[in-house]
Amino acid sequence: MCAVTLPATPTPVDTLRRVFGYDAFRGNQQEIIDHVAGGGDALVLMPTGGGKSLCYQIPALVRPGVGIVVSPLIALMQDQVDALRALGVRAGFLNSTQDLGERRVVEAAFLAGELDLLYLAPERLTVESTLRLLDRGTIALFAIDEAHCVAQWGHDFRPDYLALSALHERWPSVPRIALTATATEATRREIAGRLNLEDARHFVSSFDRPNIQYRIVAKNKPEQQLLELLTSEHKGDAGIVYCLSRASTERTAAFLSQNGIEALPYHAGLDAGTRARNQSRFLREDGLVVVATIAFGMGIDKPDVRFVAHLDLPKSVEGYYQETGRAGRDGLPSTAWLAYGLQDVVQQRKMIASSEGDHAHRRRLGVHLDAMLALCETVECRRVQLLNYFGQASEPCGNCDTCLSPPQSWDGTVAAQKVLSTVYRLDRERRQKFGVGHVVDILLGKTTPKVSQHNHESLTVFGVGTELSEAEWRGVVRQLLAQGLLSVEGEHGTLVLTDASAEVLGRRREVRLRTEAKRAVRGSTRRAA
Ligand code: ADP
Ligand code: ZN
Repeated sequence: MCAVTLPATPTPVDTLRRVFGYDAFRGNQQEIIDHVAGGGDALVLMPTGGGKSLCYQIPALVRPGVGIVVSPLIALMQDQVDALRALGVRAGFLNSTQDLGERRVVEAAFLAGELDLLYLAPERLTVESTLRLLDRGTIALFAIDEAHCVAQWGHDFRPDYLALSALHERWPSVPRIALTATATEATRREIAGRLNLEDARHFVSSFDRPNIQYRIVAKNKPEQQLLELLTSEHKGDAGIVYCLSRASTERTAAFLSQNGIEALPYHAGLDAGTRARNQSRFLREDGLVVVATIAFGMGIDKPDVRFVAHLDLPKSVEGYYQETGRAGRDGLPSTAWLAYGLQDVVQQRKMIASSEGDHAHRRRLGVHLDAMLALCETVECRRVQLLNYFGQASEPCGNCDTCLSPPQSWDGTVAAQKVLSTVYRLDRERRQKFGVGHVVDILLGKTTPKVSQHNHESLTVFGVGTELSEAEWRGVVRQLLAQGLLSVEGEHGTLVLTDASAEVLGRRREVRLRTEAKRAVRGSTRRAA
């Protein structure tokens, strides 16, 4: 009589401890893992750093078969797989960086049942041979990482993701878990619709990152402002500085380095070797600054990033939230700092006007930009506004610039009328296009060559605005743009009136403007609970 003791199927918490070496689940990880391990579908919204990976890795380990993970982060697959292998998890990946020989090895391991997790680039699933391969193995679950990439309404749409709707049709009984760190109500609905996850359970975590202090300042000398921030508050700290253009990442990195702050550029135009080297130095060394385009950071898991600075305006609140979310994953006080100015608004409106895509696409970009501008110009708590954007209610936080030093506002009706009537008068000279600089010159009464050339000294508005400085006028114009009381048109960024402008000119509408903070706020940072 010999009893054979079969190893009991490990429970999720056993796996958490034995494989990953953690004591307890965080937030709603346990609930999500139990649900998916039990065969249920899930849509998971959890902020960056919240611990999404375990939500599919553990169910994949406790269920029979291989967990298939779809991820757009091809550059990180090798790292992710290496990290899992170091824990004794049998993992592999298939993407376009491999040659046929390498792919064959992974495919053979999959078929032999020698894998726990298989990472796939989404374009692999548009290839019939991959689908047939999957048919021949046992699939534990499908995890769809960065699931917002399936939503056209979102800010990071990837056409390859649309193919993922086929997974459910081909393998109806395999549970699916879609995960994202960023989703408004509209994006969430679109994800659920496109991936057939309407009946899935939705797990929505709080998006609050209490240890991040949000600050948005008026941009005047951005590099100097950044240097002041880093030297006064973040000496020796690791951080990320985001710029819109490749050229400005290089320029800013050089500027910081000349000023004693070790900074490396990172953008898609650098060769792969330099990119990989800069990324791995950032991850491994202490106190480095990376100056990057948004190509940098997706999936970067460095816990002690103490600040994320934006020198240009992000295109959407989702983008801003995701990029700033790379700060302070360790829960310690961190800064999210953005310098934003008139030129950002003009430039982004121009980019939208000249962007490819249909009218609906441009309209979407416009809505995203407007939401970002509203966050920049708000006099309320930034965190309340940010969380509200993601559909979550909250109280004023005490840890953002507007809470720490509430902005004053002033009656800007007369100033607005001066700007708008200048634009109105220039607009009548339809042959010629005039941008912001010229409008401000006229208000200040500057006899520039352009002013003389067009005889603009003779306009009744010439010189009527000497009560404000040039920077203040630019601030007024920026706020009018953000409030939709003024607009820009065409590739030259010509200022034009909107329907709402008429109400201001006709004295039917008062305009409140924010008083620009003269100095950066230096408040106390609140520690995460
Ligand atoms: P996300 O994908 O949501 O940004 P990750 O899955 O990369 O987050 O997890 C962020 C960090 O938190 C990782 O270093 C991970 O190992 C760690 N982590 C996740 N869950 C736990 C847990 N239950 N206990 C301790 N650390 C955890
Ligand atoms: Zn606040």
